[in-house]
Amino acid sequence: MNFLKPPPEKIEVTVQGIAASQGIAYGQIFVYIQSDVEVPSYQVEPERRLEEVSRFDRALVSTRQQIAKIQGEVEKNLGAQEALIFDAHLMALEDPALIGETIRVFESTGQNIETCFNQVSQRYVQAFAKFEDEYLRERASDIRDVAQRVLQNLLGQAENSLSRLADKRIVVANDVSPSDSASIDRSAAIALVTDSGSKTSHAVIVARSMKMPAVVGVRNLTKRAHNGDWAIVDGYDGVVILNPSESTLFRYGKIQEKKKSFEARLMEANRELAVTLDGVAVSLMANIEKVEEVAQVKAYAAEGVGLYRTEYLFLNSARIPTEQEQFLAYRAVAQAIAPQPVVIRTLDLGGDKPMEGNPDLFPKENNPFMGFRAIRFCLENLEIFKDQLRAILRASACGNVRIMYPMISGSEEMVRANAVLTECMAELKSRDIAFDDKLQVGAMIEIPSAAMTADILAKECAFFSVGTNDLIQYLLAIDRVNERIAHLYEPTHPAVVRTLKYIVDEAHKRGVTVSVCGEMAGDPVFAPLLLGLGVDALSMSPAWLPSVKYMVRAMTMADARALAAEALTLASPKEIYARCDAFYRARVKVE
Ligand code: PEP
Ligand code: MG
Repeated sequence: MNFLKPPPEKIEVTVQGIAASQGIAYGQIFVYIQSDVEVPSYQVEPERRLEEVSRFDRALVSTRQQIAKIQGEVEKNLGAQEALIFDAHLMALEDPALIGETIRVFESTGQNIETCFNQVSQRYVQAFAKFEDEYLRERASDIRDVAQRVLQNLLGQAENSLSRLADKRIVVANDVSPSDSASIDRSAAIALVTDSGSKTSHAVIVARSMKMPAVVGVRNLTKRAHNGDWAIVDGYDGVVILNPSESTLFRYGKIQEKKKSFEARLMEANRELAVTLDGVAVSLMANIEKVEEVAQVKAYAAEGVGLYRTEYLFLNSARIPTEQEQFLAYRAVAQAIAPQPVVIRTLDLGGDKPMEGNPDLFPKENNPFMGFRAIRFCLENLEIFKDQLRAILRASACGNVRIMYPMISGSEEMVRANAVLTECMAELKSRDIAFDDKLQVGAMIEIPSAAMTADILAKECAFFSVGTNDLIQYLLAIDRVNERIAHLYEPTHPAVVRTLKYIVDEAHKRGVTVSVCGEMAGDPVFAPLLLGLGVDALSMSPAWLPSVKYMVRAMTMADARALAAEALTLASPKEIYARCDAFYRARVKVE
């Protein structure tokens, strides 16, 4: 045996993915397989059926022990009240209907116990989700949680939760759904790596908002990496290095030092105003999805919130939040940010943001990105839409609130949405409830038909906010979360540049302002192009404000306009990207 050779599993392996969120992390890996893992289905031989039932019993006991342990920890760390929630989980495990029914299905079909339990628990979740009574509806998510745990135990999988990581960990996942990413343990996750996904998937948006390095599209890494393996995640170059050698660690240490001193320079410049070298002030705003992110908006000195994604209130819940619950969240943000503006976007569920646990409201679709989502859903579910509009209107009495509708496809939809808003205003007036009756109402421009009719739409809007994440996907027919075609998702495609120019020109002719709130706005390589095209404001994850502000302060608007004018004459996305990159490198030195 050759003792000089490290054991095979310790050999350094470099895997290339897509750089999605900048930064470098070094640590141990936690492999996360998304909850609805495939449940294998097979027949159990009659002589093994007794053992199959014992296997089920053992999984129930382990689940009970795990939940009791978590309950103990939560009680110790957060208090008895918070720990009470786990009583409901323990009760679900004792539920004779759920457990007894599983055994009955098993006895009559002879299928493996995972399949039977999965069938029965899903039926229960769906039945509970339909109840009028709020308490009963909430039981749906308890049962779903517990069922996942039981299935993991049956399948011999490690306890699996992104919201309760044991220690600082690099999360390596096959995929991370929006609801998973919303509940990610922000104190323990130090980097995110996913087999699938792209730069604009919501997990990445969350990682960027946390300034957490992220690499996506690293096919099959979940199959190669193991819990506890050490790794470097390089979110600048989109590289993951498993079991890095001493010399690699040294090299990365040096890179990190340089980046850190650059970051310090960025933070220093962030105290200054966002004004170009030729004296043009630029408005830099923040994207948020949770009330708690208001602290970051302030810490990074944003000039207000340009996009408040409200669907995150809904994603982790088996039920629709009430008007009052929504009002409290919106008011908290409006009050904290006042007098600066907060642009509250109405529900954008569906597509890449499915509302899990509500199959009645969101039935399965073949093509959810082109399906029943966002404003289309709201205009057909007027009760839900009106609850949200009233909540936003009420919050407008406590700050500088604006409303924005997502996925508007043309002016008729805008007129219909505004008619509902007018009804809500009339209702509140008749009940003597205060709201800002001058609040501005705008549209997201993220569907090509809206972009192409920007001149018509401008008549109905106070402002436009361009959602480049979706606009690029629809213009180029590139699914924004499909890693196989991620290389074709090109923000500098001439079609994108020309469309942006058209939107800005048509809006400005009619006195309508234009901001960009897609991920493109938070990238200092693209910001000069957007500003050069005439965009009035950029809205991004708060953590990216310093890089963009640094760029703004290092350029002249005249140069940015020249860059945009040149980009409009170029034929290839690569050429336009090269010009943007050269513009950036000539002004910003990391060394
Ligand atoms: C966009 O599409 O660019 C956008 C900002 O909205 P979301 O990413 O939430 O779809
Ligand atoms: Mg969008």
